[in-house]
Amino acid sequence: MSDLATSVTDDQLLILKDAALDYALSHGLVVRPPATAASHTGVVNAPVSLFPTPFPAKAFQDAVKIQPLFNQLVHDISEDDAFLKEIMESLSTVDDFVKRLYDLYLLVKKEGIAQPASLGVHRSDYIIHLSPGQDFSEAAIKQVEMNTISVSFGSLSSLTGDLHRYLQATTGYFTDKLDVSALPSSESIESIASGLASAHQHYGSKTAKVMMVVQPGERNAFDQRYIEYNLLKNHGIVLIRKTLAEVADHGRLDPQTKALYIGDQEISVAYYRSAYATTDYPTEKEWEGRLLAERSLAIKCPTVAYQLVGTKKVQQVLAAPGQLERFVQDPVSVAALRASFTGLYPLDHTSEGLAAYEAALKNSDELVMKPQREGGGNNIYGKDIQTTLKTLTPEQRNAYILMDIIRPPVTKNVLLRQGELQKADVVSELGVYGIYLHDGKRVVRNDNGGHLLRTKGVESNEGGVAAGFAVIDSVLLV
Ligand code: ADP
Ligand code: MG
Ligand code: MG
Repeated sequence: MSDLATSVTDDQLLILKDAALDYALSHGLVVRPPATAASHTGVVNAPVSLFPTPFPAKAFQDAVKIQPLFNQLVHDISEDDAFLKEIMESLSTVDDFVKRLYDLYLLVKKEGIAQPASLGVHRSDYIIHLSPGQDFSEAAIKQVEMNTISVSFGSLSSLTGDLHRYLQATTGYFTDKLDVSALPSSESIESIASGLASAHQHYGSKTAKVMMVVQPGERNAFDQRYIEYNLLKNHGIVLIRKTLAEVADHGRLDPQTKALYIGDQEISVAYYRSAYATTDYPTEKEWEGRLLAERSLAIKCPTVAYQLVGTKKVQQVLAAPGQLERFVQDPVSVAALRASFTGLYPLDHTSEGLAAYEAALKNSDELVMKPQREGGGNNIYGKDIQTTLKTLTPEQRNAYILMDIIRPPVTKNVLLRQGELQKADVVSELGVYGIYLHDGKRVVRNDNGGHLLRTKGVESNEGGVAAGFAVIDSVLLV
């Protein structure tokens, strides 16, 4: 395995840094700086690695291959009322956020679903696992989680791959060590835009617009803008940006058709790049906005049902014996999906839950404890697991799941954050995007949507780029 990051001199690193910064700034590989989040004038380079990171080709292909299976699985689970009911009713007693989402699901279902179609833009995340004695190329993917709402970095990850191919071509510092065919490009900008376009066409109004539901003061707005620009350029469809509060303030439903209007603008697709965190609902107004969209004829990306399927609890239940078979008939597909699971444990009142609890109190070093939250920074590690478990009632424990820690091989890279270089021992997490459209009766499309590699210092537990832990990287297949 080539260690690109250690094969260049410090002088060469500075040249790479300048080239990378100019490339990033001139190609929109940027984010808003923290202090001027609301301003439109300043940007800084998006946090990126200077070098692509080696990733086993077989593991990469496995992750790509099973994405359509996961897309279908999310949809099939979302249609299984009884399965969702069992999980969400018990979570609802201990998790107010899940309760609100599940209540929304129940209410809209009771009123009658206005729009039978649903659009999924998912991302399944993996860390590779090496068994003792295995060669790097034989490492296996282990799923960290399945994201079904507001998956980000589709655009900036494509650009980071382009950046690495550019640096390789122009500096020549690592040319002889790097085969360009080993740097697969990611088509996630086009894929996500084309998914939105498919849903828009299915909706069937030429004058309607796609609405991206955004967070106020979003720092990662440029990752989102690329999708907007691509949708207009390649599909002739206009996308407007609205916050949940603006949806509540300016939205209304046509009393007959339930078509969603923002002002006098009809909305074909409500695409969420918000609405996944408790902080996205600071007041009741944001919940009103969510309810209005969910009730409407607009195609939701995702529906609240897809969002619920993306909870860690669903992931844990699916890993239990026999559960996957409820949804997937083909044994080869079951085996392929199951091979990507690592150990997942409930913290409920079942004998498995009690055993997991007792085991974690004794040794929590190889575990991560997860609540039903998204966006990074919510998990609990190591000794904190034991401290936290002791503060929870048996009922409250059920708001969490336990998962085996996946420990990937460590590599070296140089990270570029806000213009500053940092040499680091790093680990990476692969994300594979999936695009899925179902019209209520049949699958309209079920596709791969490109990939993302995020890389972080080995000492950091969490991996969020937006949360400040990780950088965007690209894949060097080995
Ligand atoms: P979120 O929905 O907040 O992104 P994740 O389950 O992805 O939650 O956890 C956040 C981060 O924590 C991951 O990106 C990864 O860096 C780390 N992490 C989560 N689960 C594991 C695991 N089983 N093994 C190792 N690291 C993990
Ligand atoms: Mg997530
Ligand atoms: Mg994650």
